[in-house]
Amino acid sequence: MALKLFNTLTRSVQEFAPLDPARKKVGLYCCGPTVYDFAHIGNWRTFVFADLVRRTLEFSGYDVKHVMNITDVEDKIIQRVRENKTTLREFTGQFEAAFLDDLKALGCREPHQKPRATEHIPDIIALIEKLVTRGVAYKAADGSVYFSITKYQGCGCHYGQLLKLNLDEMRAGERVAADEYEKESVADFALWKARVPDDGDVFWPSPFGEGRPGWHIECSAMSMKALGETFDLHLGGEDLKFPHHEDEIAQSEGATGKPFVKFWLHGAHLLVEGKKMSKSLGNFFTLRDLLARGFTGREVRYLLLTAHYRETFNFTLDGLAGAKSALARIDECVGKLRELAASPTSNLQSPKPEEALVEKFTAALADDLNISAAWASVFEWVRETNKRIAEHAFSAAEAAAALTAWEKVDAVLGVGTKAETEVPAEILALAEARTAAKKAKDYKRADALRDEVKTLGWVIEDTPKGIKLKKV
Ligand code: AMP
Ligand code: ZN
Repeated sequence: MALKLFNTLTRSVQEFAPLDPARKKVGLYCCGPTVYDFAHIGNWRTFVFADLVRRTLEFSGYDVKHVMNITDVEDKIIQRVRENKTTLREFTGQFEAAFLDDLKALGCREPHQKPRATEHIPDIIALIEKLVTRGVAYKAADGSVYFSITKYQGCGCHYGQLLKLNLDEMRAGERVAADEYEKESVADFALWKARVPDDGDVFWPSPFGEGRPGWHIECSAMSMKALGETFDLHLGGEDLKFPHHEDEIAQSEGATGKPFVKFWLHGAHLLVEGKKMSKSLGNFFTLRDLLARGFTGREVRYLLLTAHYRETFNFTLDGLAGAKSALARIDECVGKLRELAASPTSNLQSPKPEEALVEKFTAALADDLNISAAWASVFEWVRETNKRIAEHAFSAAEAAAALTAWEKVDAVLGVGTKAETEVPAEILALAEARTAAKKAKDYKRADALRDEVKTLGWVIEDTPKGIKLKKV
């Protein structure tokens, strides 16, 4: 069944077909986190959405290469590094590690590549040089290099592909140095920012002078390096359409003269209790905040996956409690099926349910990821299965076939069944306290916390990527 997706570029639902002539390989890029703090639940909606797209493509038989960058140098990061009197790597490293732990806790498949901006400075410089050579970028009096929208348009290129811009209001010669700006202030934007005292130690040498890259050029350079000058899918939250994604298109197409991306997918935002999340309103949650309240990553994933990606989603703590009971219904049903599949005594005949589940589920997803219809097919199957279990209408072979159907659809949903290995919040908190103690060189406390975790039946393993928790 052909997969249809809403392409922001054409403002329409289109049948997805990869660029690969063999129709097998798919390149997918999702703008990754800016690692200046713990990712919040809104960010997680977007990353879980990216995971859903990847899993759906894999479910459809494609061989996906999933790339997600780590933005580890930009305006906000430099400001925090300065405020915290630390180094760039030390500061961003802690949030990058936390992000990857959370990604796992939410059951997201790990991207195949996670390029860091700071490790791609030569690629970024080469791309800017190409733009300068082609005449669409210039060095300004402040020493920074800017992208010229007028020159770009002069080459017959289109600025404003993802949203309508009022370019008549743009004044010639206007420039914007900040990474983030509103569409009312559309102007030439910075590709390379000349070093200023506030940057501290954060600068690199370049043919344009010492400085650092702008945020937008980072994604153009890293995505094209990993996936080629033209690739299949580019994702992000809806707030990234302008200026970030529009500027990515301009930089990439301005340098290569080729179309940059075939499909642009944007996820709508998340509100909390009906309001925009903000620390001052007290409705700001990171995943860690929710784990500390006793919820699991699996429950958060379920809730984030209940709404269509193009609809604003209202996240509530009641909704999260509802997620717990919805998952319990699935767990109970799957648990009973497991028992039946293992018992050779029940052998009554009845029609196979798995085809209906997989077919309905596949059709729902193919319809621009209609997740509500996909969940409806799951819960209809749970109801039907429970009824048949109560009527003793399952043979062991049929129960096994039903389980296979569930596993097939769960390869997309990624909620599994309640795993014994799910790390309880209490263990997680103790392990985090141990990491903090180690960092503070309080090894006595760190060892005591490790022992406490052990007495509760878990072992902490230190790995180069951070800690791992295993059940003994
Ligand atoms: P950032 O780390 O700020 O670069 O954001 C990472 C991703 O989260 C981007 O794709 C944003 O579009 C997305 N994002 C930010 N806020 C929200 C929100 N409230 N709801 C959904 N996605 C969001
Ligand atoms: Zn990006």
